[in-house]
Amino acid sequence: MTDKERLKHSMKRFFKDIISTCKIAGIKINLHDSAYVKIAEDAEAAGYFCGEDMELVAAIGGKNLEHALGTIVHEYCHLEQWAEDAKVWRTFEANDSMDTLHKYLEGKKISKKKARKAFDEVIALEADCERRTMEMIKLYDLPVNLKKYAKRAEKDLESYNVMFKTKKWA
Ligand SMILES: [Zn+2]
Repeated sequence: MTDKERLKHSMKRFFKDIISTCKIAGIKINLHDSAYVKIAEDAEAAGYFCGEDMELVAAIGGKNLEHALGTIVHEYCHLEQWAEDAKVWRTFEANDSMDTLHKYLEGKKISKKKARKAFDEVIALEADCERRTMEMIKLYDLPVNLKKYAKRAEKDLESYNVMFKTKKWA
């Protein structure tokens, strides 16, 4: 197989799998032709997965294929956490950690202890998701440079600690 054929094969296999999984699970896939999607009044993200709305959203415009793929695999791994009812997902959902994080960043009155706990739960969820994402990139042999992705993941994880300190979206 040539590199081009290998790439075509791995992408086809990956998209076939995620489309069929989403179909079975009743998840809508929304790909946006923008670099970011709005997640709060003054916050943007590359994508998100919402178990309540049963929706996987990824912004795939304005960036290269490698970045877009990284985003799709990452959000799909959140779907996997949700579908498996993974402990990190269960804790995050049960404690409404994302809601606390939003309120804290909006300047609402949240104790530092409560906020720290919520941030730690979000970080645990994201770190688990990043591990899964890198495994999946390997498994499907996707055209995403793992070293580069690991750096992106590290930066994203670190941004939560920055947000905690500055009380601002990063
Ligand atoms: Zn994530």
